[in-house]
Amino acid sequence: MLTIEMIPAEYGDCLWIEYGEPGDVHRLLIDGGTYRTYEALRERIKTRQEASIFELLVVTHIDNDHIDGIVRLLQNPQLGVRFNDIWFNGWRHLGAPKDDILGPVQGEYLAARIGKMRLPWNKGFGGNAAATSEADRLPRLPLEGGLKLVLLSPTPAELSSLRAEWECIVTDAEKHYPAPGSMADWLVWLSKDRLYRPDEKDDTLGEEAPDVEKLAGVEFSPDPSPSNASSIAFLLEYGETRCLFAGDAHSNVLEASIQKYLKEQHLPVLRLDAFKLPHHGSRGNLSSGLLELLRCKRFLISTNSRRYKHPDGESIARILTQGGTDKELVFNYRGTLTEQWEDVELQRKYRYRTIYPPKGQAGISIEL
Ligand SMILES: [Zn+2]
Repeated sequence: MLTIEMIPAEYGDCLWIEYGEPGDVHRLLIDGGTYRTYEALRERIKTRQEASIFELLVVTHIDNDHIDGIVRLLQNPQLGVRFNDIWFNGWRHLGAPKDDILGPVQGEYLAARIGKMRLPWNKGFGGNAAATSEADRLPRLPLEGGLKLVLLSPTPAELSSLRAEWECIVTDAEKHYPAPGSMADWLVWLSKDRLYRPDEKDDTLGEEAPDVEKLAGVEFSPDPSPSNASSIAFLLEYGETRCLFAGDAHSNVLEASIQKYLKEQHLPVLRLDAFKLPHHGSRGNLSSGLLELLRCKRFLISTNSRRYKHPDGESIARILTQGGTDKELVFNYRGTLTEQWEDVELQRKYRYRTIYPPKGQAGISIEL
């Protein structure tokens, strides 16, 4: 049994994965979504008594739509959640000098909580960065219960770029941030932070019938964000099942690692049971070159389409025109930008099905 639940995480990611046999169920959590996603996460933990132990927590990168829910989760240790390992690349993993430079606030918050709670941190990597290395084979890490994860992103180069970005964003003399790594100071800072209050405003979404061929023909322009590029992305192997969890990773990084994987495994193409699209289906993170390496049954899209208006039509159009036949688009929210793909004509022409939460609800769970 392997289930993937896309918890409603607003414009972010929060994936709850369970695997194993009845009576011996294991779980992992990938990201915690936005500030408000924590509420949904807390309810799941409270209503499932046995669900407080995770083999692994992966915080793919420091953007708030992935990390905020986790910062809140770790602010509430009374929930009794336990993680056997946490994959997260904080300041200490970026290879930067420790003095004179400040770290991004949320990254420091999370590091401070991990430190205070004495949680395992990148244990699978000996405490070092969760990253691939150019020379070696792709890191392959087993978890309890027969699951294996093959790390695809980031490379050390992406972490170096994040280091520059991290420094640039937060070296703000007027803010008087604590020094990086000074956990006690960061905990005080966190306790006073008002940014974590709900403040989202919904955008009004446009309604436009998608022109698949035109969208698919739009030239690919890669996502420039260093923090997205620093995303931890991996292939999950469980029996014959293969799932790709891409965080907000960059297409070229995934492409290179997947090519390496195919070579290692002597495979012509990567067959996937599920692919959580990078960066909520943003057009800058799903290239045709990446799709060419895959034969995938289910494309998972985690977003409520607000704020950044993901998924982009270009990404869905690339999937429809390149993604082979008999494929599913699985959305964890209904909305104008996701429901437009429910069109029966489009589904017949491009041989796909759409799956949504029931009307009026958000979040979706699929069993593989
Ligand atoms: Zn994101």
